[in-house]
Amino acid sequence: MSIQTPGIHHVTAIASDPQANVDFYTDVLGLRLVKRTVNFDDPHTYHLYYGDEVGTPGTILTFFPFEGGQPGSVGRGQASATAFVIPEGSVAFWVDRLESEGLAVEDPVERFAETVVAFEDRDGQPLELVTGESDIEPWTDGPIPAEHAIRGFHGVTLDSLDPEATGDLLEAMGFQRVAQAGERARYEADGERATAVDVLDRPDGDRGRQGTGTVHHVAVRAPDAETQLDWREELIEQGQRVTEQKDRQYFQSIYFRESGGVLFEIATDPPGFTRDESVAELGSDLKLPPWLESDRETIESQLAEIDEPTPAEAER
Ligand code: ZN
Repeated sequence: MSIQTPGIHHVTAIASDPQANVDFYTDVLGLRLVKRTVNFDDPHTYHLYYGDEVGTPGTILTFFPFEGGQPGSVGRGQASATAFVIPEGSVAFWVDRLESEGLAVEDPVERFAETVVAFEDRDGQPLELVTGESDIEPWTDGPIPAEHAIRGFHGVTLDSLDPEATGDLLEAMGFQRVAQAGERARYEADGERATAVDVLDRPDGDRGRQGTGTVHHVAVRAPDAETQLDWREELIEQGQRVTEQKDRQYFQSIYFRESGGVLFEIATDPPGFTRDESVAELGSDLKLPPWLESDRETIESQLAEIDEPTPAEAER
């Protein structure tokens, strides 16, 4: 038995204002808010999930928003960019759209035969749009025309403190090293989507500092909880310090920080986001796990209201 993840499950990052976060990811990028819940380890903070229509693994970007939170800095020891797939012909559409939103957009560059558009969200979170293939149908009830809409993740870039160790870990989880260009090595999982992980080798780069505008952790997929436990044993045998299995309601999770500095999670595909809301209702109400329901009143009183614009409003 060996670990064979098909790719990234979700990426979790840190934001400041929750309303600004919702506005950016739904109105500007056209993702769907598929779940509003709280950070189970810190229930006074939201945990907001964005994805395709149903939150398919490989499309899910999540945030812990801290109003007035300390800005971080992106650098070594962190996941330093999160990339989404866009269709080949959509680069000009997106550059125009992002610039019209007042965002600083870098000139598109070619990387491993794909076109990459780099920009940042309102908190300085580094994002990329990469041309390519994906099995994900875009969410069509958002403000982006379907022909241009985001189709889940392309992958992530890790600015590792120890690129060799990070590469070894990726290979131990089923990724293969497929390309190298300058300081960047490309690893690919054998899956349908969200398969690319780039590892940077920048020994002179500045170290990152966690805070708003930075990634908190990167989760890769496991097919089910039993396989996840097998993988946990294997990672422990390889010397990783792995947490117990945790119930995240929409998936089961284990976590470990690898020696390149990046916090990894392995998350199960099931049960998914429709376990407590219908597809039509996803993201419309604050959902709490059973063990926090008795504190709902207190929790709700400590969270800022979030107003999610309807698609019609977003068009204005
Ligand atoms: Zn996670």
